[in-house]
Amino acid sequence: MKLYSKQTLSVPLAAMSESGRFVHSYIITGEKGAGKKTAAKYTAMMLLCSDVHDGRPCGVCRECRRILSGVHPDCISAEKSKKSYSVDDMRDIVTDAYTSPNDCDRKVYLITDCGGWSDAAQAAMLKVTEDPPDPVYFIFTGDDLSVFLPTLISRSMVIDITTADRDACMEYMHDTYPDRPEEELIRAADAFGGNIGRCTELLEGDEKLLDLAERVRRTAAACAVCDEYTAAAVLSGIRDRDVFRQMLGMLCAVVRDAAVMKSGAQPGSYIGCDRGSAAKLSAFPASRLIQMYDSLTYTAQLCGLNCNLDSAAAMLAGRIAGRKGHI
Ligand SMILES: [Zn+2]
Repeated sequence: MKLYSKQTLSVPLAAMSESGRFVHSYIITGEKGAGKKTAAKYTAMMLLCSDVHDGRPCGVCRECRRILSGVHPDCISAEKSKKSYSVDDMRDIVTDAYTSPNDCDRKVYLITDCGGWSDAAQAAMLKVTEDPPDPVYFIFTGDDLSVFLPTLISRSMVIDITTADRDACMEYMHDTYPDRPEEELIRAADAFGGNIGRCTELLEGDEKLLDLAERVRRTAAACAVCDEYTAAAVLSGIRDRDVFRQMLGMLCAVVRDAAVMKSGAQPGSYIGCDRGSAAKLSAFPASRLIQMYDSLTYTAQLCGLNCNLDSAAAMLAGRIAGRKGHI
């Protein structure tokens, strides 16, 4: 099986497979759509596949197929009894971890999407991750490391898969959607950089995402010419908090690209959906870009505190597209 754009994961796993000794606990981080769940399953396949070759799981043996379809008895996905994992959810995993594997020599626990879990829930995992039963492996995933306690991090191999790679993303789309016109694939890659998950959502017909990308582009363009009025108009009128936050995240990516351009880094590392506006923004002083980025992340935090979205949008527009403080 091929893993696109995730050398940070596939290379160390291949090396461990070669040596026959795997780390028992993994923390995989990456932004939404980066492919954390795929990466977690890939890791489980590396551990359970009966025919690993060239440092990759085969993808077709009985073990691989059952992992891919989510029915492998030794690849267990933790379940959330509430919105996030509770202490009891984790205790269930720990109890299960001390029983023997069903079919294989190893068993793997996928504890994905750990955001929002309590310190107590994590603490329940500390003992077992420090001294895990021989056949047992844990794979945790989360958006970033702030989700995890330092003690859990210190016991795990941390792998960040955020790094977007536009070439790998195009290759994935060519392989997965061989019949789609090239323009469509390019449009998706342009909209979401190298984020394979987002590109797939777009190609699978998520028009809402397309609308969001369009709004981000209009806002970024307004920021580039200090058109506060247009920025406010585009940013306001979104009713859904998560959608609004998602849009702020996409704007952050554009501002980040502008900073990358300013530093003269490699073009391959762009992640935003509007390279044109990023190029214009890169003419701004670095301090202005930092201030824009801070305003975006601050507003995203406000969204979590039940603020009024339209007021937040108006305030944000002033901060990121206003002329004040910017000459
Ligand atoms: Zn296999």
